[in-house]
Amino acid sequence: MKEFQLIERFFTGRSSPRRDVSLGIGDDCALVEATDNKSIAISCDTLVEGVHFYKEIPAHALGYKSLAVNLSDLAAMGAEPAWMTLALTLPEVNESWLSEFSDGLFEAAQYYGVSLVGGDTTRGPRSITITINGKVTKDEALTRSGARNGDWIYVTGTLGDSALGLDILRGKVEVNAADKAYFIKRHYYPTPRVLAGQSLRQLATSAIDLSDGLVSDINHLIKSSHVGAIIDVDALPLSLALKNAVPIDEALGYALTGGEDYELLFTVPEAQKGALETSLAHTGVTFSKVGQITTGEQLKLQSNGAAFEAINCGFEHF
Ligand code: ADP
Ligand code: MG
Repeated sequence: MKEFQLIERFFTGRSSPRRDVSLGIGDDCALVEATDNKSIAISCDTLVEGVHFYKEIPAHALGYKSLAVNLSDLAAMGAEPAWMTLALTLPEVNESWLSEFSDGLFEAAQYYGVSLVGGDTTRGPRSITITINGKVTKDEALTRSGARNGDWIYVTGTLGDSALGLDILRGKVEVNAADKAYFIKRHYYPTPRVLAGQSLRQLATSAIDLSDGLVSDINHLIKSSHVGAIIDVDALPLSLALKNAVPIDEALGYALTGGEDYELLFTVPEAQKGALETSLAHTGVTFSKVGQITTGEQLKLQSNGAAFEAINCGFEHF
């Protein structure tokens, strides 16, 4: 199968039509229509075999996750997904692999209304790069730099499941069959909080998505905002499955340092707290208040009012 046949068979014409795409796959460039009162939010993520995923990952999961991690970045800006390009590097053309991969990719694309408008296809060690574009009303994008002293800190969903799923896949942890399926699904199929992100616009002062782990990611946020933070580890949202699977200090280790949750962390001033909670409740996404922004550019973890030391359950790339 030649490159253009591969593109035609697995990628062309599979996106839901969008009126703002005037020219999609097939020409030298795609053409999309910008709108005057919107900013275009752009983000790019690469997944490399052996680094970001094991070669055993089901192709469907890889297709889904490649897009989900990019959507999570749009969610963190409060942007609405619109278009993506896909740079695909594969060691060989395996049609059943491509079929499952593209099904997973388009499952996420359909759900979130993203149109695949172009890309590149090359031979080499397996890697997937998606560049995603979204739209957000000018001056309404959420950034990492807006947190202020006294703001409340929230996270969506539950934390730590994905990292435990990875440790199960690596043979480091054993759990019963039902929980195993749950954790691995959480690792392979993260839910980007796109709607929640949009509902935070004009209410949250800052936001970031949790890809590297809460401790690492909130440090980016407080650095950008020139503030500090206190996290009450007793308030961290843990799934029942996580609490049952490992001792509590390990569960908190996964939640604080594990990574790949793709939940949102955001800050809200006291005056917007009620409005925010109402607005988020409408999206159906669960959320928890886990701490507060302080002065002094430092992160403090607390449990029952005393300093807390987290176990490191993070996955180091290098
Ligand atoms: P060029 O050589 O001009 O870059 P290509 O032959 O690489 O064009 O690609 C032909 C068309 O197919 C282009 O519109 C490109 O954006 C699209 N394309 C290539 N690979 C992919 C892919 N993996 N997914 C989606 N579109 C792709
Ligand atoms: Mg090309």
